[in-house]
Amino acid sequence: MKKLFGTNGVRGVVNEDMNIDFALRLSKAIGTWLGEGTVAIGTDTRLSNHMLKSSVASGLMACGCDVIDIGEVPTPALQMYTREKADLGIGITASHNPPRFNGIKCVDGDGTELVRWKEEEIEKIYFTLEFKTVDWKSVGRLSSDDGIESYNQAVLANVDKDLIKKAKLKVVVDCANGVGTYSTPAILRELGCRVITLNAQPDGTFPGHESEPTERNLRDLISMVKETDADLGIANDGDADRAIFIDENGRFLHGDRTLTLVAKNEVEKHGGGTVVTPVSSSSSVKDVVEEEGGELVYTAVGSPIVAREMIERKAIFGGEENGGLIFSDHQYCRDAAMTAAKVVELVADKGSLSSLVDSLPQYSLDKRGLKCRNELKERLMEELKSFYNECDYDDTDGLKIYYDDGWVLIRPSGTEPKVRIYSEAKDKNRAEALGDKHLGQVEKILSRLI
Ligand code: MG
Repeated sequence: MKKLFGTNGVRGVVNEDMNIDFALRLSKAIGTWLGEGTVAIGTDTRLSNHMLKSSVASGLMACGCDVIDIGEVPTPALQMYTREKADLGIGITASHNPPRFNGIKCVDGDGTELVRWKEEEIEKIYFTLEFKTVDWKSVGRLSSDDGIESYNQAVLANVDKDLIKKAKLKVVVDCANGVGTYSTPAILRELGCRVITLNAQPDGTFPGHESEPTERNLRDLISMVKETDADLGIANDGDADRAIFIDENGRFLHGDRTLTLVAKNEVEKHGGGTVVTPVSSSSSVKDVVEEEGGELVYTAVGSPIVAREMIERKAIFGGEENGGLIFSDHQYCRDAAMTAAKVVELVADKGSLSSLVDSLPQYSLDKRGLKCRNELKERLMEELKSFYNECDYDDTDGLKIYYDDGWVLIRPSGTEPKVRIYSEAKDKNRAEALGDKHLGQVEKILSRLI
């Protein structure tokens, strides 16, 4: 069957594939699937938000759903609102994609992203056009509500306010002109931090920089941290579900550093417990979790998968290396403001961010990719599996081959005609050597398949 939803909803270019007719048809499919119920709609700061939101709200009301518009909010705030006050949430956001894009994604009544089989049911209605609109007396109503204040308070309730206040930290926050503007700076001020903001006016043209928090996009943040002698810098992505950090020396910290740091701290604080992360994450996460007496569980790549596994295993913490961290004490979804508050708490409690990060196990990661037509991917993976059959491997997502001093993950891309090869070892040369060796093997098999 044809597919609409990717790993994070449906995305497209505004007024091309992401247009009002599409939004209306999709929302009628969603409304038909849900039946009468309450749906919360939240958006990021993109220029097409009002246009798409109106279309989505109309389709839902035609199917008898009541709609609550909670305005521009971080995605985790929509998820919290949905869990508390609605049967379903719809986020209109394209997260870190360029400004011409927008997207639509669904949040289930428990606040987590909708599971795949439910998306498939919606897709089926969408493609077969089997919509159920209601009679004139039963059409839904539209109201609005605030989705920010209770979210900000919930984040604040999960950290030690007095401890953080005493440290009087200076923090530079880059909101990327996105919805993080409404939460992260206010929360940090409430925690007694001196907050300097960058790109903190909501603007769907993203004039500061593109909304993906890469080192290149965060050059201004990095200089500002140095110039103002700040204790740390924090960057949100466009929909504020991910946070990336800069230490007090202006060093950009890859997401796996904060994932490891926070995992260590959460296990220490809980005196053990389960942590969930995708197979692509650095071994440093496993090292620290086990050192603190916890257990690490690997999943396939994708935050909804991590979140579901966390619920299943009653895990205390989980996350991905892109800055998307999930705290069970708070809610089962990636949350930038919660991550910011937790890292600030750690710095207030234990000292500078650079010293905390430098005390973690260090690994070197080698990443490469090569072209592979989509129709060859399955056969390639089968061949690889039989070739590495004698090795210690994990096929949760792609093929991860373990060696005494490192690992290699060979994984077909979910969105592009590519295969990616990640190799990790303590030493940079060894990681590269592993990358070379496995790239060669993939090329050899592919040349046979073509
Ligand atoms: Mg995002």
